[in-house]
Amino acid sequence: MSHDGAQLSSIVLREIRLPLVEPFRTATGTVDVRRIILVELGDADGVTAWSECVAGADPSNDAETVDSAWDALAESIVPLVLGKEFARPSDLHSALWGGIPGNPMSRASIEMGMWGLVATRREESLSRFVARMTEHASPPRKSIATGIALGMESDADTLFAKIQDALSQGYRRIKLKLSPRSDLEILRAARNQIGTRAALSVDANGSFSLENPGDLSYLERIDSLGLQMIEQPLPMDAFDEHAELQRRLQTPICLDESICNHAGAELMIRLGSGRIVNVKPGRVGGFTEAVVIHDRCRRADIPVWCGGMLESGIGRAYNVALASLPNFTLPGDISPSSRYWVRDVIIDPWVMDSDGMIEVPVERAGIGADVDRDFVDQLVVREASFSVV
Ligand code: MG
Repeated sequence: MSHDGAQLSSIVLREIRLPLVEPFRTATGTVDVRRIILVELGDADGVTAWSECVAGADPSNDAETVDSAWDALAESIVPLVLGKEFARPSDLHSALWGGIPGNPMSRASIEMGMWGLVATRREESLSRFVARMTEHASPPRKSIATGIALGMESDADTLFAKIQDALSQGYRRIKLKLSPRSDLEILRAARNQIGTRAALSVDANGSFSLENPGDLSYLERIDSLGLQMIEQPLPMDAFDEHAELQRRLQTPICLDESICNHAGAELMIRLGSGRIVNVKPGRVGGFTEAVVIHDRCRRADIPVWCGGMLESGIGRAYNVALASLPNFTLPGDISPSSRYWVRDVIIDPWVMDSDGMIEVPVERAGIGADVDRDFVDQLVVREASFSVV
């Protein structure tokens, strides 16, 4: 068998309910737990690795949900790969890509788990293993810069207090959620408050439209604020419109929701729809695709960064490894465990130092985190085991 491969002999799906530090607003109400599917993959030699599916509880952000992902995994994806031998994680990616349409987060949970499993088998850190698979095989970074995303509060004092807290914790970049209804004066005040202590960016989640003249003039007015980027101002399919907008703005546009695979990155580069990419491994179907996007953007001098999807410490381990690749030059949304979780599902939670840096476990074999199995057992609400007999 290839040293970079493994045979998938067992897969266990577990759904957990992980308590959040701060309740989370969704389209249908407020939740104080995050529903998460954890995946445990095992090979024929009894080596195991954990991964995570980033789908959310409801379809307000993405089409996939915890329930749809559970069904997709149990009924289609696991049967497609169980018992098979893959010479490289990218071969598993190809099998899933060709075998199952859509469902990128479900596919990614197995595909990324395969990277974790092979790294564990090889007694190599996930970050070193992934870095070896990039175009230039440059070594991973030893620490990564961290940014924080804050909601745009309607009450300015609440926002300023949150910004002050983020600055004192050391975050390197502060990102504010923005919509055409956000108060421009509050954004200006936030700009002054932050000064040069951190980078400032905004994320519109596709809420602006070039068909509204007011939206365009709003974006032109924030162009002078020295923002690090305007993330996804227009809807995900609007590649031409993003290119038109980028021609009018000095501030780099960053695409997030638009980048579902390497073809999206290719189209962005060809049309000039943006100058930065937010790579979410769950959204693009896993690490194989994320590495292709990383390499393509690097050739085009487009910096990338790693977005967050409310991952537990297990999913965070994969984000940390990905963000250690050389072209991840901008701070990622990879907060320490304590920002989200009352107690994380790993033994040593992810921590950030006072300079806003998270250490990459480059010398530690496997995903770089040990799962707290006893705690996971307490949180499990359903479980399904699959193995070859
Ligand atoms: Mg975003």
